Amino acid sequence: MKYALVTGGSRGIGRAVCVALAKEGYPVIVNYLSNENAALETKQMVEAEGGKAELLPFDVSDKDKTDTALDAWQEAHPDDYIATLVNNAGIRNDTAMVFMDDDAWHNVLHTNLDSFFYVTRRLLKLMLTKRWGRIINVASLSGIKGLAGQVNYSAAKGGMIAATKALAQEVAQRKVTVNAVAPGFIDTDMTAELPKDELVKLVPMRRFGTPEEVGHAVAFLASDKASYITGNVISINGGLYT
Ligand code: NAP
Repeated sequence: MKYALVTGGSRGIGRAVCVALAKEGYPVIVNYLSNENAALETKQMVEAEGGKAELLPFDVSDKDKTDTALDAWQEAHPDDYIATLVNNAGIRNDTAMVFMDDDAWHNVLHTNLDSFFYVTRRLLKLMLTKRWGRIINVASLSGIKGLAGQVNYSAAKGGMIAATKALAQEVAQRKVTVNAVAPGFIDTDMTAELPKDELVKLVPMRRFGTPEEVGHAVAFLASDKASYITGNVISINGGLYT
């Protein structure tokens, strides 16, 4: 059976992606770091839609923990494979570059970009062998245009977008597609402390997006309907200039 793994599926965009993929018929693996209650809530939401969800906590920024968790999952599911991977887990730690300490740089790069490498590399082999796969990377507007105060985050997301384009060309012949979505401002815990009243004035649609609006685009890219789309970045930002 073809499974979908959503990193950072416990909350926000990842949760909406889990629900949207379940509606597409995927059994969903919900990854998260530590928030088990939120992950269980995601599982319930998937099940309420008639879908199937399993929890698989591990730290995506840690290579060994990632390999261990994914090896264990595969051992428990000898006849299944993870055909769709959504690299969604992410953090931000904003500060002007002159004040940015080493941790703020490395933690953001490890969680947002190294994770893409660790998780994708581990799952790619079976996608190539089975000759069908979908990799969808949740990047950001910051990775396209760059954002002041987010040099670390912009570097990570920009790197993710370039890696999306490179990998897409490597694996296209095996029917594995690799795409990214680049959300603008989306209503989640990550944006809860931002000055929303000011920021919406920058958005032509005059509102933040919903996690579900990102989830729908990801579910489309994961479907058979998107079979000829690869190496692309879909902006989901209410018309914010990119
Ligand atoms: P969020 O509400 O803060 O949720 C973050 C998710 O990532 C949680 O499920 C969290 O797990 C998980 N996570 C964090 N570090 C992890 C780690 N080391 N290992 C495994 N899981 C980890 O964030 P969000 O707004 O939904 O963002 C999701 C993605 O969209 C991120 O990549 C973000 O950069 C991107 N994005 C967001 C926006 C926006 O406006 N919200 C815009 C553009 C791009 P726990 O629940 O266990 O903490």
